[in-house]
Amino acid sequence: MTAIRAAVVSEKAGPFTIEDVEIDDPRPDEVRVRIVGTGVCHTDAIVRDQVYPTPLPAVLGHEGAGVVEQVGSASAPCGPEIMSSCR
Ligand SMILES: [Zn+2]
Repeated sequence: MTAIRAAVVSEKAGPFTIEDVEIDDPRPDEVRVRIVGTGVCHTDAIVRDQVYPTPLPAVLGHEGAGVVEQVGSASAPCGPEIMSSCR
């Protein structure tokens, strides 16, 4: 388990709140990235508003840039910096 700070939505149409949460270690096909910058896009807003029904509470903010900190056992090696976005 790792303690992180994240933008969390706890209820439909509720505010994004910055909270301390704990996440599991990466599964074999995952990596853990320390996000250093992120935006909140329309997809996050419509998930918050449950246009896309999603279990809450949820950590949102999927467009970011950061540094790979841990790689799952079955993940291919990757560079230290990474970016994510939607299209
Ligand atoms: Zn997006």
